[in-house]
Amino acid sequence: MARASNLPVDPARIAEVIDGLAKLTEPGRPYTRRAFTALFPAGRDFLDGRFRAAGLETRVDAAGNLIARRPGKKPGLGTIMLGSHSDTVPDGGRYDGIAGVAAALEVAQALADKGIDLDHDLEIVDFLAEEVSIFGVSCIGSRGMAGVLPADWLSRERDGLTLEQGIRDVGGDPARIAGEARKDIAAFLELHIEQGPVLETERLDIGVVTAIAGITRIEIIVDGRADHAGTTPMGSRADALAAAARLVSGIEALAKSLSEGPGHFTATVGEFAIEPNAANVVPSRARLLIDARAEERNAMDLFAASVDQLADGIARETGTTIAPPRRISENMPTPGDPLLLGVLDAACETAGASHRRMASGAGHDTAFMAKVTRSAMIFVPCLGGRSHAPEEFAETDDIALGAAVLFNAVIQLDETLSQESV
Ligand SMILES: [Zn+2]
Repeated sequence: MARASNLPVDPARIAEVIDGLAKLTEPGRPYTRRAFTALFPAGRDFLDGRFRAAGLETRVDAAGNLIARRPGKKPGLGTIMLGSHSDTVPDGGRYDGIAGVAAALEVAQALADKGIDLDHDLEIVDFLAEEVSIFGVSCIGSRGMAGVLPADWLSRERDGLTLEQGIRDVGGDPARIAGEARKDIAAFLELHIEQGPVLETERLDIGVVTAIAGITRIEIIVDGRADHAGTTPMGSRADALAAAARLVSGIEALAKSLSEGPGHFTATVGEFAIEPNAANVVPSRARLLIDARAEERNAMDLFAASVDQLADGIARETGTTIAPPRRISENMPTPGDPLLLGVLDAACETAGASHRRMASGAGHDTAFMAKVTRSAMIFVPCLGGRSHAPEEFAETDDIALGAAVLFNAVIQLDETLSQESV
């Protein structure tokens, strides 16, 4: 494995940014720096200082994203953008999002160190509120930059603060978001910790992300009949929970079988409730919510059709009524841009990084950037796959190797995309 000594980037500078942000956490609550809370601007100020110290021009765009810019030699060629997010979940980690911002900044610094001037403008972005925010929604900055932030979200309110005011408080201008959707970005790349165990288990340096899985949430309501638990014979019941339990097992089996297919697939019954939930009453109703994630759309369609069939069969066998499973939310998978995936594979080779292609089961800002430009992302390993917890950990050298991959990819893209636009 290639290690820090021969990389074009400086691991110490990456660690300094990550450590600096880690110190900005709610007292006694590592690591909590949520968007739209009092601490968030402190993180932004810290980053703004580091960006400026690296000789970059900074600004906050209409959607509240902090952007640092390194002008290219050929104005009008477009922007190569790198970045991720600095907000955390409550009791989150030091690396989720932050590693990507630190690595992006390091790419800009390494270019400056080596006196490399790109043709394209290079921008480093800290997206606003990637995590589910106090307003109950996520990826606010990247949705805004892509021009797909739903206008009615701006009036969402929490503790007297509207999202609209929250964006203004970080320096954004909600009225200008729609008009400022970016059309000048030539390519977007994001480095992120994997948040899963695959790279660590396989002892690989980099995951080149083939797609961000689409997420479908399916609600199922099972109606049985409430009866006395002591007097109703076992053969005369319509037990909603017993039927729902069979559904959960069936869903797990379906998901396991689909996960053995070519693309990433997971399905989880993450919400489950029964009524009346009393010791001496046969359950009359159960509600399940499935979170299903698929890299490939046809796997999701197959899953949904199989769940319909499963529910039908179980209702018949158990004497319960199961309404047709209802898709309550759905978004499509986002494939990585093929040109960028090829450039990233080659950038791994140049950096001496072992790599594989893999899907992302988690959502990321890249999914929204893909609506306006060529986009792709890379993963670096994290300890035990842990994330969204204080135990989240990634080795500085692993992040630095990822930054070196980004560095190589940016140089290659600057050349390739320049030729393309001639
Ligand atoms: Zn993240």
